[in-house]
Amino acid sequence: MPDLDRFKQDICDIGDRLYKRGFAAANDGNITYRVSEDEVLCTPAMHCKGFIKPADIALIDMEGRQLAGEKPRSSEAFLHLEIMKARPDVKSVVHCHPPHATAFAVAHEAIPNCVLPEVEVFLGNVPIAKYETPSTLEFAETILPFVHKANVIILANHGTVSFGESVERAYWWTEILDAYCRILILAKQIGRVEYFSNEKGWELVELKQRWGFPDPRHDPAYAGSDLFADDVFRETWSECGVQSGAFGIPGWSRAAGKQKERSEFDEALIERIADRVAEKLRGALVRE
Ligand SMILES: [Zn+2]
Repeated sequence: MPDLDRFKQDICDIGDRLYKRGFAAANDGNITYRVSEDEVLCTPAMHCKGFIKPADIALIDMEGRQLAGEKPRSSEAFLHLEIMKARPDVKSVVHCHPPHATAFAVAHEAIPNCVLPEVEVFLGNVPIAKYETPSTLEFAETILPFVHKANVIILANHGTVSFGESVERAYWWTEILDAYCRILILAKQIGRVEYFSNEKGWELVELKQRWGFPDPRHDPAYAGSDLFADDVFRETWSECGVQSGAFGIPGWSRAAGKQKERSEFDEALIERIADRVAEKLRGALVRE
């Protein structure tokens, strides 16, 4: 028999951290924990996550039907259940709107790699799922292309969702991602983001393998690939409206696939225009 009281308390504790860190304004955000094959604890609708009590938490089945609890479950339960159905190893899901990561969700800006070693080890590539109306099944299903290859997903024009084997672990990935996004935005305000090399990036991916952290890039199909190009999720970019370029990623045009040709074309055009301007200036100087 699972210790429901302990897991309810874990949810309340993480709710308090979410709220205090500003990851969930007013009644934003929701947290779940799977206590058995078909039973999931779920935060209630319309409650501030900083003030939930164990008695407020609902018990639902894997279809979202309420089994126990006086307060109705969160309307976002489907998003959590979709992740749990796809990933039997996942016990807990945390969804919220952390401002810095959500800024990337609003800009549809791809999360760059090879900036901070811990981020490379703990998060790896971070996908952005396409926008859908919250609380619908269509919205819940937007995470399906990514759920086996990541532990945190950015939801376009909405927020984030992260998951793991405990409530705290599920929350960690959100906290790491938002701290990373905050640092990126601050560095951009200083003026630029510098990257470590693709080779150094691969050293971290290999280290991760030795430490037993899963990463889709351990698949031999990705061996030696360009980490800046986000080979893991790049194919989803056009459908999800993801862009890359605000952070001066080295060779970001490679990452943007077809945009490479366009970028090369632009560079050639700029070079021709510069030559013509120089020619005219030389002509003007000679005439003087
Ligand atoms: Zn939300």
